[in-house]
Amino acid sequence: MTRNDALALDATDPLAALRDQFALPEGVIYLDGNSLGVLPRATPGRVQQVVQHEWGQGLIRSWNTAGWMALPQRIGDKIARLVGAGAGELVVADSTSVNLFKVLSAALTITRADAPQRKLILSERSNFPTDLYIAEALAKERGFELVLAEAEDLHARLDERTAVLMLTHVNYRSGRMHDMAALTQAAHRAGALTVWDLAHSAGAVPVDLQGAGADFAIGCGYKYLNGGPGAPAFVWAHPRHAERFWQPLAGWMGHAAPFEFTPGYRPAAGISRYLCGTPAVLSLAALECGVDTVLAAEPLGGMAALRAKSLALTRLFAERVQATCPALALASPADEARRGSQVCFAHPEIAYAAMQALIARGVIGDFRAPDILRFGFTPLYLRHVDAWDAAEQVREVLEREEWRRPEFNQRLAVT
Ligand SMILES: *Cc1c(COP(=O)(O)O)cnc(C)c1O
Repeated sequence: MTRNDALALDATDPLAALRDQFALPEGVIYLDGNSLGVLPRATPGRVQQVVQHEWGQGLIRSWNTAGWMALPQRIGDKIARLVGAGAGELVVADSTSVNLFKVLSAALTITRADAPQRKLILSERSNFPTDLYIAEALAKERGFELVLAEAEDLHARLDERTAVLMLTHVNYRSGRMHDMAALTQAAHRAGALTVWDLAHSAGAVPVDLQGAGADFAIGCGYKYLNGGPGAPAFVWAHPRHAERFWQPLAGWMGHAAPFEFTPGYRPAAGISRYLCGTPAVLSLAALECGVDTVLAAEPLGGMAALRAKSLALTRLFAERVQATCPALALASPADEARRGSQVCFAHPEIAYAAMQALIARGVIGDFRAPDILRFGFTPLYLRHVDAWDAAEQVREVLEREEWRRPEFNQRLAVT
């Protein structure tokens, strides 16, 4: 393969035009859409319209006239199309961490009612820390125990003591993707419920929550959904669970009739009871623009087409780096079926400094402690030639030993 071959792939790429939806800065190859997605061109205008017109002119009337109250459900229905959920089953609210608290708590409440002898929350040792922290705190609060296992041992660890299997579908560090259907089936066979974190899946890989028979799911708005820094997150409960119990953050927006201002809580029907407080209208406006950039792929083959391109990009990049940078070890699964939309390489000493050197060259990925260079590939806006050029930059940084420069060895707060 040559650079011209990469250019030829771009020339015939059926998804190429989707890149025009984004305001990409000049001179940057952005391989960090798994941390913070790129700004959609539509977002500044839309946010300005909401600020100037809906807020500035409409003021309080806009809660009724501009559809503000329905934003959590309206955007939720759009995200549902990307993760195999039905309309009316998913809402946007709060952060991923907070939504995990709600659904994990609901799953524990269901367990307490149906199988009180089950006391274990099973998760993966390398799960994203906030997920483990929330689970640890809830376990302590509710009299459960959090147990951690390696990915390959999860099946064997499911047993009659397991209450909930809580996993992140695509691992944030390695990019390893679980078989959601197989693990959900195994959990159900063992009598446990499942909670899936889709932070690195929604908008990145095909997800079929209904098809997998999953119980609960949450996910992130600011990664592959391009919703902007700190964008609201989403929450889904299978309809068989949604109305069984209250979730613990029983705020007024999850009430059946918030504007009756009654002293007692009556949960809203369905997933709307997973709302808590007032919707973050400005953030939701930005998030909707981001979600729309992913939905724009629907007439072009949707998530399946995005997945095919994502694999082509990660394959090209991984093969080039492996061929030209023997010092770096592939830390993502070589088997594409088990890989999300990112590629990671490990180096025991220079991973942080090498990433800083790459960022200085305009190739933006990130470093994940202790030894990982992480490269996220968003097929909506990346080209095959970007993958090729990024791999060349990695080779040059290593060959010229740019990672030795002192300024690249000073740790910043956000890596
Ligand atoms: C990014 C990410 C989060 C982020 O949670 P916030 O509440 O938005 O800070 C949570 N879980 C996983 C697996 C993530 O990758």
